[in-house]
Amino acid sequence: MNSKLPDVGTSVFTRMTLLAQETGALNLAQGFPDYDPPRALREALARHALAPGGHQYAAMPGLPRLRAAIAAQVGRLRPGAPAPDPDAEITVTAGATEALYAVLAAVVRPGDEVLVLEPAYDLYGPAIRLQGGVPRYVRLPAPDFRPDWDAVRAAFSARTRLVLVNSPHNPSGAVFSAADWDALAALVDGTDALVLSDEVYEHLVFDGAPARSARQHPGLRGRSFVLSSFGKTYHATGWKVGYCVAPPALTRELRRVHQFVTFSVSTPTQLALADTLEADPADAHARGLAGFYQAKRDLFRGLLAGAGWDLLPVPAGYFQLAGYAALSGAPDGAFAEELARRWGVAVVPVSAFYHDGHDPGLVRFCFAKEAPTLEAAAERLRAGT
Ligand code: PMP
Ligand code: GLN
Repeated sequence: MNSKLPDVGTSVFTRMTLLAQETGALNLAQGFPDYDPPRALREALARHALAPGGHQYAAMPGLPRLRAAIAAQVGRLRPGAPAPDPDAEITVTAGATEALYAVLAAVVRPGDEVLVLEPAYDLYGPAIRLQGGVPRYVRLPAPDFRPDWDAVRAAFSARTRLVLVNSPHNPSGAVFSAADWDALAALVDGTDALVLSDEVYEHLVFDGAPARSARQHPGLRGRSFVLSSFGKTYHATGWKVGYCVAPPALTRELRRVHQFVTFSVSTPTQLALADTLEADPADAHARGLAGFYQAKRDLFRGLLAGAGWDLLPVPAGYFQLAGYAALSGAPDGAFAEELARRWGVAVVPVSAFYHDGHDPGLVRFCFAKEAPTLEAAAERLRAGT
């Protein structure tokens, strides 16, 4: 068949997880925790699975109770912006993945350009192209992966329909500063361009730094789709529930598509999340995530110190980028293969985050793992020294 995405193979995350299974390597590749969601959340799901009445289609935009709980939490955790209206501004989606796809399908017309900052999450480019859109890639300069706004401005044109940003950033963990958000607002000011702000790692910002959202910027709130993921927030990547916060006019467009992609998201899962959010009005869980993941980051970095890895700073997220020039001169794909097969640790080669295969000589480790997993991985990763 004449493929719409002839250059696209199976996602790197799937490939590396399969390689880990095949080789018996510890899987620090695909981003998911090796621990479970909080017990109260799992119990809530079990309760709703057994209870009568909550097993048919949820409301198309999301269960009203869950949307209300999300709106209240966003209001509490994003000071400076009014809490979103749960009816008009929040849509529950099948993970941030579906939200990304549905926003792009709702907004991008053939020939429209979308600015994408690279390295970028692997679905952005293909999902833009499936709408007939043209991704315009701008490289984030290594090693801190903060935008060079002159380069972003140079790529912006009258055809730019959307600017896609991801802060905290996968794979680098880079976080937009207030000045970055100002620069983005200045870029789109006076244009028709919209913003798609992928904020799935919003609660995983370390060292006491503030986590800012596009919602909190007065110049961006009115034109931004802001995405979050319960997969990240509740260690529940397999539940596939996320949400989009956007002004009413944008939410209406998103829902036009969402209703024909999934229609609605699993009802018992939404009920369980609603219970859990309602039971935590002080947001203790979300507020605790930074400390929880910072401890994992520090443990992993400490375990790898002095072993020849060039550990880049990790201001946020749950990934450690590492240079390996002292260990191997191989391209990152070949080195990742060797790491899985010979060293017993699966990673993601960072070239997978570039549309043109650019190889910055880095691999990505996921440190959302129990301490014994990180210790076992580090023991293997020190073997080369
Ligand atoms: N955006 C980014 C930057 C991600 O890293 C991920 C998943 N790891 C997603 C979106 C998808 O989120 P979800 O699992 O909720 O679909
Ligand atoms: N976002 C995850 C990562 O970066 C992977 C999600 C997926 O496999 N689709 O590893």
